[in-house]
Amino acid sequence: MSTILVTGGAGFIGSHTCLVLLEAGHDLVVIDNLCNSSEESLRRVEGLSDKSFVFEKIDLLDQPALEQVFVTHSIDAVIHFAGLKAVGESVEDPLWYWRNNVAGTLNLVDAMNRADVRDLVFSSSSTVYGMPEELPVTEAHPLGPVSPYGKTKLAVEDLLRDVAASKPGWRVALLRYFNPVGAHPSGEIGEDPTGIPNNLMPFVMQVAVGRRERVAVFGSDYDTPDGTGIRDYIHVMDLAEGHLAAVERLERFEGCEAVNLGTGQGYSVLDVVRAASGAAGREIPYELVPRRPGDVAAVWSDPGLAKAKLGWQALRGLDEMCRDSWHFQSRNPHGFAKT
Ligand code: NAD
Ligand code: UDP
Repeated sequence: MSTILVTGGAGFIGSHTCLVLLEAGHDLVVIDNLCNSSEESLRRVEGLSDKSFVFEKIDLLDQPALEQVFVTHSIDAVIHFAGLKAVGESVEDPLWYWRNNVAGTLNLVDAMNRADVRDLVFSSSSTVYGMPEELPVTEAHPLGPVSPYGKTKLAVEDLLRDVAASKPGWRVALLRYFNPVGAHPSGEIGEDPTGIPNNLMPFVMQVAVGRRERVAVFGSDYDTPDGTGIRDYIHVMDLAEGHLAAVERLERFEGCEAVNLGTGQGYSVLDVVRAASGAAGREIPYELVPRRPGDVAAVWSDPGLAKAKLGWQALRGLDEMCRDSWHFQSRNPHGFAKT
């Protein structure tokens, strides 16, 4: 069993992954500046796993503090979730996104290099593919992100490809997630966005719980069976298990390699609203509104490489995603802060 440094471990995907890593017997050192999360998620991870771990409130931009983590702890591998992820915000303040996501990762990789830690799993995104030219999207699809957020993800991928090529020993998995949703089945941890949710599932859940009036369905004139956008939603527990598989199989990564984490199955916005209504046991009101600028009609993954390389595939379907999202939302109607 190894000691894994998890950056951004208090966040949505990080907290679920921490739980799965602890249950698999790994020791954890978690760092997070809590700019988009709460320490409460980590307390709940400790409760669910009945295990404790080190947590340090550290910003990736604080290079001396980051270096010290590698001096204090004997780290075997790093899973790097910490980053900003709101597309609209990245358009308004690209400098903040480039500094936090790219300079932050530069600091991390620098600290790893000095400490001789060369095993890394990075949170990339399907957004690096930009406009899909063919479906399903394989890892060989051309890269061309549109938003500043997506460009920071591609910049970090490029940085990691260069570093891994510079000397032997680096083993880097770039995990390109599709649309993470859902929550741990206990309803103890889940997605708790600050402000108005940008993403579909948390918005739908806040409507279901009565915090918002209705879902605005962005676009009903796409060239899809029901006219609404299609995405590859993936349960966060599947994603967490994908990280466990990646970090335990880094010996299969010579240098730096990208792997899609998706289900390979696309669902429309109306499919999600319908499944969420079933899970919540109530009609979720919605209205059809114009398309959101920058959105594409349909994207879903080819998850074949993940199966071949990691021995991992997503197991949970849309109903389970909605059931677990609803369980978290109904137990924590105002998220972590006010429960
Ligand atoms: P999240 O915001 O819940 O988690 C990110 C965590 O990183 C937060 O706890 C935040 O406080 C922390 N953080 C941000 N900047 C930091 C810094 N400079 N120093 C220390 N901590 C910092 O987001 P998430 O949904 O869990 O996403 C995790 C990662 O996965 C992100 O890198 C994101 O870009 C990527 N990703 C997410 C999605 C998605 O839809 N959720 C899709 C593809 C990729
Ligand atoms: N969407 C929507 N209403 C919302 C949020 C999203 O209709 O309030 C649609 C969006 O147009 C896309 C899908 O839901 O077709 C998923 O959007 P999300 O922002 O969750 O993820 P994206 O794929 O854009 O990263």
